[in-house]
Amino acid sequence: MNTAHSLDLLQAAGLPSVFHLSINGKLVDADRSFDVLNPANNKVIAQAPQASAQQLEEAIQAAAQAFKSWSALSWQTRSDYILRYADALEARQDELITLLTLEQGKPKHSQAKSEVEAAIYWVREVAKREIPVQVIEDTAEHVVEVHHTPLGVVGAITPWNFPVLLGLWKVAPCLITGNTMVMKPSPYTPLTSLFFGEIAQSVLPPGVLSVLSGGNELGQIITEHPAIAKISFTGSTATGKKVMASGASNLKRITLELGGNDAAVVLADADWPSIVKPLFWAAFGNSGQWCIAVKRLYVHSSIHAAFTAAFVEYAKTVKVGDGMDQSTDLGPIQNRMQYEKLIDLFEDTRKQGYNVPLGGVIDQSLAGNFVPITVVDNPPENSRIVQEEPFGPILPVIAFDDVEDVIARVNASPYGLAGSVWGGDRAAAIAVAKRMETGTVWVNEIHIHGIDIPFGGHKLSGMGVENGQEGLAGFTNTKSYMFKK
Ligand code: NAD
Repeated sequence: MNTAHSLDLLQAAGLPSVFHLSINGKLVDADRSFDVLNPANNKVIAQAPQASAQQLEEAIQAAAQAFKSWSALSWQTRSDYILRYADALEARQDELITLLTLEQGKPKHSQAKSEVEAAIYWVREVAKREIPVQVIEDTAEHVVEVHHTPLGVVGAITPWNFPVLLGLWKVAPCLITGNTMVMKPSPYTPLTSLFFGEIAQSVLPPGVLSVLSGGNELGQIITEHPAIAKISFTGSTATGKKVMASGASNLKRITLELGGNDAAVVLADADWPSIVKPLFWAAFGNSGQWCIAVKRLYVHSSIHAAFTAAFVEYAKTVKVGDGMDQSTDLGPIQNRMQYEKLIDLFEDTRKQGYNVPLGGVIDQSLAGNFVPITVVDNPPENSRIVQEEPFGPILPVIAFDDVEDVIARVNASPYGLAGSVWGGDRAAAIAVAKRMETGTVWVNEIHIHGIDIPFGGHKLSGMGVENGQEGLAGFTNTKSYMFKK
């Protein structure tokens, strides 16, 4: 591996070339380290420290110790700390954006920038939210109130597709509600999390947020550890099931944000030329490596051919390349494991002889994990490309005739993350959306998120929610107080 070349790249971008674990307020090294690759060329960009089980233990014990004083602070004091953290992140946001592109691949000027900006906005806004005490009864004789109390140490485990946003989505609500956190990012994208962990040590009390990189085994230790009260996990459904099983040992509270196979349904009366572009980005943004990407696009048969032709024409204007290049619209696949899975899915699509009006062939001679934008025209409902979550830039555009039939096909999925419906008759579109078995639905728009909007999956897409009052409450125990006057 060409380490020297890549460290030069970090230095040229004004970035640190050495990354540390953050444990109990200190930046520490590990005895071992592992390579972090730039997916645009598979060169090493840096070494990440591989935390030992002993270091993880130290971080968990420090978080348990810090919990005593952090949870005793007033809500306002914790909010002030978190607002200072948002300011400190903002002061380093350019570095965070560059680092995100280098380790994750997404284009620096667009998707990396918006991920980092959204994450900082989230930290700042969540710091202003509260869970009010609910007064159930207040009579001359009796008071009944419902309070929310912090849980203790939270273990956060994050994936590689949105490491900054999904990581900080967990940090802010966890800390404002009075918990402390030990975070383990994906081994594919540890650098941005180590970086925001390092920034945290300059503003937060020791032990309140520790970030440790390492392999999957660290995640498993976190899920089994008796001193961890809750796991906040984002990742695949397969790993989510393991997290739930090992969390059972001490009945951990568990929030799981898992995979999806989101459908978009374009009804016959949709103003379809105006939605080609938003639906393209809804499917291919972040090169399809997105839990809520549109992964099945159902279009009414009366407009299917015209829609697909226009969709393909628009797709041809989009450039796939190195995210550091200003002209790039979509970056590479983040890691080789996912790239190999896509090779297998592309091979199946080719072998089955489906009609592929765009893309379809992965050039494996390229140094980076580049996969072409691929559209599969009307494959059968039981094909792998319709039934599986590809997590890459390949989309089936499927024709349907009957609304009842398409609703049944959409809901036949074991996943239930999100979905969208597009149509001219708003009431009819809403009626279809209401029947989707998903945690989120959008009508004539897509991918709207908000601090106050709960987000979570039904069925195999997860358990519990992030964001909104429910998301905050998910970091707490409910406690009923009763006082005789
Ligand atoms: P993954 O499940 O392989 O890994 C996620 C994290 O779990 C990583 O940090 C990994 O090191 C850790 N891990 C692996 N094995 C573990 C174990 N036995 N115990 C504890 N932790 C363990 O997922 P990924 O490949 O990083 O992410 C892609 C998946 O994430 C996709 O399925 C995608 O749909 C899903 N995702 C969901 C959301 C959502 O909000 N619903 C958001 C982003 C991604």
